[in-house]
Amino acid sequence: MPKVYNWQIGREMDYRFANGPAKLQFAAVFNTNRCIACQTCTMACKTTWTFSPGQELMWWNNVETKPYGGFPQHWDVNILTLQEKANPGGQTWDVSKKDPAKAPYGSFSGKTIFETADQVNNMVTGYIPPEDDWKAPNIFEDAATKHSPTGVSLPEHAGWFFYLQRICNHCTYPACLAACPRNAVYKREEDGIVLIDQNRCRGYRKCVEACPYKKSMYRPTTRTSEKCVGCYPRVEGTDPLTEGLPMETRCMTACIGKIRLQGLVKVGADGLWIEDRQNPLYYLVNVAKVALPLYPQFGTQPNVYYIPPRWVPRDYLRQMFGPGVDDAIAAYMNPSRETLAVLQLFRATQSIVFSYKVEQGPKTGELNVGGQKRELFNDTVIGYDSRGKEIVRVAVDEPVIERPSQVAMNTI
Ligand code: SF4
Ligand code: SF4
Ligand code: SF4
Repeated sequence: MPKVYNWQIGREMDYRFANGPAKLQFAAVFNTNRCIACQTCTMACKTTWTFSPGQELMWWNNVETKPYGGFPQHWDVNILTLQEKANPGGQTWDVSKKDPAKAPYGSFSGKTIFETADQVNNMVTGYIPPEDDWKAPNIFEDAATKHSPTGVSLPEHAGWFFYLQRICNHCTYPACLAACPRNAVYKREEDGIVLIDQNRCRGYRKCVEACPYKKSMYRPTTRTSEKCVGCYPRVEGTDPLTEGLPMETRCMTACIGKIRLQGLVKVGADGLWIEDRQNPLYYLVNVAKVALPLYPQFGTQPNVYYIPPRWVPRDYLRQMFGPGVDDAIAAYMNPSRETLAVLQLFRATQSIVFSYKVEQGPKTGELNVGGQKRELFNDTVIGYDSRGKEIVRVAVDEPVIERPSQVAMNTI
């Protein structure tokens, strides 16, 4: 079994294949603090990719209400339970082994889903959810842990819920790929998007069983498995809207709450991200450290990152996003000028932003956040496409535009 390096768990691990020759990796940052669960992203994906017979229960994108909801139901609790059973009491982190480049969250001392499998009959620990569990993309919508008649406040709400936006993570070490006995699942060298070759797939559902995020799904009418395709024609730049330039996916560009930013990051042969400080995703994940992977302890090195919700009990968040949670929330609550500017790029353009620059603006005010004084500046962030050409320019202060009174009169 080859050894690969997984920087999210800060150590080497066993994986069925050695690192492939990827150059760029599909990645995204989701800001859970801003999502309104409108499901526009969900419908954007549904109406593009999964509107045909046999795909009725397929939601490649879904937004679920935590802690009770899940699609399929209880997917994460079920995997965590299987892992705990396989390694009782051992699923812990060693945060003393932090290293900024190779182990930013410390080292995971427990076992990944590859390491708890017997690797003879199964390459990955997993399960196939029963059909009933796939019936609702947001079951227990808006159900809070408890009602709080006296009100709640930061840092932790007594009664709480939050929305978790989920697509395939186009993992660096995909469990679906490792588990497929037909080698029908493959990861593209040019963008790291993980696809299922429909001609090779025989519907054994090993990928459905193996994916810890349950983002590979079985289609009974074709007897094959299908999954999020990362809207690859858009990422390739073959959509006429952007005239040959890489464009963000349907679920990203449709986002009403402006919580999503997607792009491509440079990766090395060792699976590590190559330093690219002016790439907004690289900046948010590796420099500002406000965005974290979902369940990094599973070991697939997922490429969708989350800015954690500020009001949720930290133990719950540490289990879900790893030990980087406290630092990420602190960095988001008190953002640097640069972080505040980069956050304005969310949903400012459909084209993929490959790099950015911040132009400093005048001081516009002061705020008191959690007892700390903050100065506000109207800086401007400029985004550049894959050719280095400016494609977007956004100021931190949103301009107020008043309609002329004449126009207002005419509309009465
Ligand atoms: S999230 Fe699941 S389906 Fe997607 S690449 Fe990772 S293991 Fe495969
Ligand atoms: S990236 Fe495309 S295929 Fe994947 S969930 Fe989003 S809209 Fe659907
Ligand atoms: S479109 Fe955006 S705001 Fe609406 S549910 Fe999806 S991620 Fe949340």
